[in-house]
Amino acid sequence: MSDKPEGISAEELLRIVLESIPLRVFWKDLDLNYLGANRKLLDDIGFKHIDDLIGQSDYHIYENPEDADPKRNDDREVIQTGKSKLDIEESLPIDGKELKWLRTNKVPMKNANGKIIGVLGTYQVITDQVNYRQRIEKQAFIDPLTGLANRRKLQHEITSSSFDYSGLLFIDLDHFKHVNDTLGHSIGDLILQKVAQRLQSIANKNHALLARLGGDEFSLFKIFESPEDKEAQLKQIAAEVLTSISKSFNIDHHIISSIGASIGIAFIDGENKHISNGFIEADIAMYSAKAQGRNNYQFFNENLRLATEKKHKLLNYLHTAIQRNEFELVYQPQFDSSEKLVGAEALLRWHSPEMGAVSPSEFIPIAEDSGLICPIGNWVIDEALSTLVRWHHHLKENPNFKLAINVSSIQFHDKSLASTICQKVSSKGLSSKNLSIEITESVLFDYTDTSTNTIIALKNKGFSIVVDDFGTGYSSLSKLSSLPIDTLKIDRSFIKNIDTNQTKEKLVKTIINMATLLGMNTIAEGVETDQERLTVEQLGCNQFQGYAYSKPISLEKFNELYL
Ligand code: C2E
Ligand code: CA
Ligand code: CA
Repeated sequence: MSDKPEGISAEELLRIVLESIPLRVFWKDLDLNYLGANRKLLDDIGFKHIDDLIGQSDYHIYENPEDADPKRNDDREVIQTGKSKLDIEESLPIDGKELKWLRTNKVPMKNANGKIIGVLGTYQVITDQVNYRQRIEKQAFIDPLTGLANRRKLQHEITSSSFDYSGLLFIDLDHFKHVNDTLGHSIGDLILQKVAQRLQSIANKNHALLARLGGDEFSLFKIFESPEDKEAQLKQIAAEVLTSISKSFNIDHHIISSIGASIGIAFIDGENKHISNGFIEADIAMYSAKAQGRNNYQFFNENLRLATEKKHKLLNYLHTAIQRNEFELVYQPQFDSSEKLVGAEALLRWHSPEMGAVSPSEFIPIAEDSGLICPIGNWVIDEALSTLVRWHHHLKENPNFKLAINVSSIQFHDKSLASTICQKVSSKGLSSKNLSIEITESVLFDYTDTSTNTIIALKNKGFSIVVDDFGTGYSSLSKLSSLPIDTLKIDRSFIKNIDTNQTKEKLVKTIINMATLLGMNTIAEGVETDQERLTVEQLGCNQFQGYAYSKPISLEKFNELYL
């Protein structure tokens, strides 16, 4: 050690060190009374003079004895064990002052003989760091758009609360994507905020936790004291949610009234609660509510579990169905009023060794959800074109014959769909005149330009465009008239018993009149009886398809019967 500066006593020098050091310093005796501290510490606790502190305990500093106790416990521990306590994160709650956060170190103070005579502490003020950390932690648990709890927070809350009975609601807005696509994302965001407000008041009233899971999905979680009427209470909450969401939204001079919600409900009960299962089950129930036509709620149940398991199984086998050559196209003939064969619809069949014959109504939606519809759709196109090649003699004699294929709305998300089809057709030396493309109204409903451009491109190349299942969707007149559509295929639900049902007759009449006005053809599908056929024909429809003529049949059979 170098000599101390001249004229300064050792005591004075120690004082200078204590006041210069960028730390708060204090020391206490074995009774936990203060022996000394530096100025910075006095400032923190709002004491003017060191004499106000010396000889006092922490009870003298803190208004609230509970604030002093943890600090005294640490001191006592250091004195009793003789071991340091480092990096204690603690607060400094001083009346009338902003709350400070400290990182404190405490070490035993020993005399020359090594005997513990007290405790020495230092601390740094880390309020900024702690505030920053808390803000980040809070953000990680909060949905920034609505200020609601997010999925993590919800999971955290469920995991850390103790309960025996609880219910979880998954709430998914209906048609929200459409609102977003048509009115723009900023209006969409405003709607989500309003939805959050409405749901929050329901949550408050029912003492439930509300969270936004993401996108247009919200969740309510409610704990029950007893199992008695939990189902009834959840029903009540779900009904309140449906009512509140179905009320119109007034945003930026737009009145939006088309939003509903599909709600799935699951229980998370019992000793060893499986929270992730609860989430999965609420999700499954929510999809079931969507499948039930939306704007309703469904409880998870065993049948749903089985249906979901079957779906998973189907999807699993569907992955290899093309490689394993399990698909077949069957053909259903189409006729005009003079019973002349004018075309056929190619319909997909899946012969699964594991699952048996699976209906396309069952596996096409699964293929669509999983994206598998694209390779499967390509297989359908290839197979249908091979059939057209085999029919080239027939096509020479009947150049207007059209083979119709069903193309899913999902396939229309692919920008290159039109060019893919064109390439395949020309590489086989076929004419686009002999192929029609059946699309559903949902393709028209899709407001992205991709689908519209594909329809226009296909039409320009000479393919016919048929709107399938017409009348069941939401086609707008303006959309219909703006697109180059050749034919409206009247959905079979309108044809069934049309000869005895005047409402259906009026509806079909309207469809046919509209088609005529727009310069489109009509074809009736699902014609099962002569009477149905006669009625539709009298209304002005001139093409027919259905069991009255033939069921869909294999290629061999079709060739044998019709070509
Ligand atoms: P869709 O396009 O409306 O096909 C007509 C459905 O009605 C076919 O059912 C057909 O067998 C059935 N049908 C025909 N005539 C009658 C009748 O007189 N009465 C009744 N009740 N039904 C009749 P299928 O073959 O089971 O196909 C069901 C749906 O699966 C199709 O409805 C279509 O949406 C979809 N689908 C079939 N094949 C394909 C395909 O290759 N690609 C795509 N994307 N979807 C397909
Ligand atoms: Ca069809
Ligand atoms: Ca149809």
